[in-house]
Amino acid sequence: ARETLLARPIPRVLSIAGSDPSGGAGIQADLKSIAALGGYGMAAITALTAQNTVGVSAVHVPPAPFLRQQLDAISADITLDAVKIGMLGDAAVIDQVRSWLQEVRPAVVVLDPVMVATSGDRLLRESAEQALRSLLPLAHLITPNLPELAMLLGEPEAEDWAAALDQGKRLAAEYGNTVLVKGGHLPGPECPDALVNTTGLLSRDVIEVSGPRIVTPNSHGTGCSLSSALATVQARTGDWEASLREVKPWLLGALTASEYLRVGQGNGPVHH
Ligand code: PLP
Repeated sequence: ARETLLARPIPRVLSIAGSDPSGGAGIQADLKSIAALGGYGMAAITALTAQNTVGVSAVHVPPAPFLRQQLDAISADITLDAVKIGMLGDAAVIDQVRSWLQEVRPAVVVLDPVMVATSGDRLLRESAEQALRSLLPLAHLITPNLPELAMLLGEPEAEDWAAALDQGKRLAAEYGNTVLVKGGHLPGPECPDALVNTTGLLSRDVIEVSGPRIVTPNSHGTGCSLSSALATVQARTGDWEASLREVKPWLLGALTASEYLRVGQGNGPVHH
């Protein structure tokens, strides 16, 4: 057992994200997902939200220099195998994360460009959208949902899968990294996801992994869980395609299991 452990060390994964005290999204979802995929989870909190399954009632963003103190304390002591970035709140927070990333250069950086919750509540100040774009070149993988993908490109939202892939290709080409295009916001019995990279890093420019659509109201935190799970598995495999092929069935299982979870009156959480 010891040799197995040495051959496959436990990935040390940091989530830089916002808190959802109801446990469904944000750092709470990230830590559960990192643990579920076999990683050691850490969390630097960018923002505190007051929220439940119905919606977000308040957001408090602590002074950005304090986030930097959290990040510096972690990176001064601990080697980070992967970093997942979620809710950032405002431009001052983004600036701190950018300069810390430039200094530390973690081996795996997954950026979930969180802007607006499913409930419609804003998680990133509108004035910070340009600042968020400045983080994109520092991420190895970007995991926007379709509204976020459109927002980052400054275009209308894709209405079908082909248009979504086309937008993903253009975003990937613009920043030279990999984009995960997610089909969860489109209708239909199938739910495709695709890794897109135009620099030859992957075996093909587009690697699509499809699965059945799980129809459930309990999908709160799905995006957070997916991005932190991918960061964790990528730290172990070093292969985005292998990571997506491992994480996708895990997420389908989590969505299916959420049927047995009775949490709140609204858009309930996915079960990790
Ligand atoms: N709250 C926090 C702190 C988040 O980071 C996110 C999404 O990233 C959400 C809420 C929204 O989750 P959902 O849109 O899945 O309900």
